[in-house]
Amino acid sequence: MTVIDLESYEDALATYDPVMGLEVHVELGTKTKMFCGCSTELKQDANSQTCPVCLGLPGALPVVNEIGVESAIKIGLALNCEIAEWCRFARKNYFYPDMPKNFQTSQYDEPIAYDGYLDVQLEDGEIFRVQIERAHMEEDTGKSTHVGGATGRIHGASYSLLDYNRAGIPLIEIVTKPIEGAGARAPEVAKAYVAELRELIKALGVSEARMEMGQMRCDVNLSLRPNGTETFGTRSETKNVNSLRSVERAARFEIQRHAAVLNSGGTIVQETRHFHEEDGSTTAGRIKDNAEDYRYFPEPDLVPVAPSRDWVEELRKGLPELPRLRRKRLKEEWGVNEHDMQSILNAGAVDLIVATTDAGAPSDQARKWWMGELARNANETGRSLDELPVTPAQVARVAELVAAGDLNDKLARQVLEGVLAGEGDPDTVVEKRGLKVVSDEGALSTAVDEAIAGNAAIADKIRGGKVAAAGALVGAVMKATRGQADAARVRELILEKLGVEG
Ligand code: ADP
Ligand code: MG
Ligand code: ZN
Repeated sequence: MTVIDLESYEDALATYDPVMGLEVHVELGTKTKMFCGCSTELKQDANSQTCPVCLGLPGALPVVNEIGVESAIKIGLALNCEIAEWCRFARKNYFYPDMPKNFQTSQYDEPIAYDGYLDVQLEDGEIFRVQIERAHMEEDTGKSTHVGGATGRIHGASYSLLDYNRAGIPLIEIVTKPIEGAGARAPEVAKAYVAELRELIKALGVSEARMEMGQMRCDVNLSLRPNGTETFGTRSETKNVNSLRSVERAARFEIQRHAAVLNSGGTIVQETRHFHEEDGSTTAGRIKDNAEDYRYFPEPDLVPVAPSRDWVEELRKGLPELPRLRRKRLKEEWGVNEHDMQSILNAGAVDLIVATTDAGAPSDQARKWWMGELARNANETGRSLDELPVTPAQVARVAELVAAGDLNDKLARQVLEGVLAGEGDPDTVVEKRGLKVVSDEGALSTAVDEAIAGNAAIADKIRGGKVAAAGALVGAVMKATRGQADAARVRELILEKLGVEG
C-alpha cells in the first residue's frame, strides 16, 4: 500500500479554499431499458435480459423509453432546471468490453435539463444552495467479472466474464456547477447534497436510489486554490463513491492530500481516483487530461426529444412536496427537535411513521413504536425498518389498543413480537396469546372485591396473618378475568384491601 502524505485538515483550510463538483448517476426504476424492451429486473442468469439493441448488434435500431424521458424531466423540474424544448442524444465513443456498441448513448451539449439548483440543509440548520449545471439521460454499461486474480481487478485475472443484463438500463447524470464558498464545510455540503438528492429522487418515485446497490453513485471532483484567489486549481475526480459517509470522507481526504502535494511544491495531476472504504483513502486511477476526446456526435438512430410545454407543465403540477420542506412540516407537526428528526430520518422511519398516523395512530405513539421496539428488532435482525414483516396499519392498531387501555406497553411489545413472528394481526396475537389485560384499576378493584366476598373464609385467614393464602384469591381473580389481569398487582390489591402487609 502506498503511503500518501496528508496535511492536517485545519492547516489545509488555513491556506486553501476547496472547490467541488459532484456528478451523480441515478439508475431509473423503469420496467424496461432506455432504448429497447428488455426488462430491467435483475436476474441471476447472465445475459438473459438482452436483445440485438442492447447487445449492439449491427442494424439494430433503438427507441427511446418514454418513462425514461418523463423521469428525467421530473428530476430536472424538481431541481429547478430549465427543460430543453428540443434536445438530442449523442454518441460518446470509446471501447470497453462491457459496452458492446463501442459507444455509450448519452447527451452532450444538449442536455434535457440545465441551469438549476438544489437547497440543502447543513447540520447547524443553515441552507446552502448548490447550483446545478445539467441533468442528462444516458445508459448504463454491462458488468464484467474478472476471475482468477487476487484483487478482483483485471490485472492478474486469468479470464473475464461479461454480463450485459445491465447494459442499456436508463441513467440520469446530474452535474453540479463548481461549488464554491463552502470552505471547511465542503465535505459536509457534499454529503448533504447527495443525501437531499437521494430523498428527492425517492420522493419523485423515479428510482429507489439505493446507494448500497449502486442505484445511485457519486463522482467527487475536488480542487484547491489559495485562499483569496479566484482561479480554480487542478481537480481530481474520485469515482463511484457509493455511500453518504464515503462522499464526505472522500472530499475530506482529497482536501488533505491536495494540500500536502501543493505545500511540498508539487502539482496536482488531473486524474480519476478510486475510493477505499476500509481507510477512507483514495488512490490514483487513470490520467484524465483535457485532451480526452470521445468524438461525440448526435445519435443518428434516435429522433430528437422535444417535450411539449403542456407535458412539462403537467409534470410540474404533479411534483410532490420537496423532501426538505416536508421534513420541516413534519418536524413541526410532530413537535420534535432537530436531533430527534435526524434520528428518525437516519432510521428510514419518516414514511412509516406518516403511514402509521395516516392509519389513525397519534404521532407520538407511531414514533415511539417505530423508533423503539421495532427499531430494536430491525437492528438485532440486521434488517431495515421497511423490511420488517409488520405494516403501519398493524402498528396503528397496537397504538389503538394501548390508547383504549386494552394493552399496556409491556403487552403491546409482546403483541408486536407476535406480529413480527408471523402469528398474524395484532388482534389475532392478542387472542392467541391471551394478552388483553384488565389494566384499569376500577375493573381490577371490583374483581378483587368480588373474590373477597365470594371466599369469606379464605379472606379471614389472610386477615389473621396467613398471607400465603392470598394465592387462592389471586387465582380466583385471574379466573374471573380470564387470565387477563396483572397477577402481581392483583396480589397487592388483595393485601391492601385486607389490611395486611405483603
Ligand atoms: P468530466 O466529464 O471530465 O467529469 P464534467 O464537466 O462532466 O467533466 O464534470 C466535472 C465536474 O467537476 C462538474 O461538477 C464541474 O462543476 C466540476 N469542476 C470543474 N472544474 C473543477 C475544478 N477545477 N475544481 C473542482 N470542480 C470542478
Ligand atoms: Mg466526470
Ligand atoms: Zn435489449
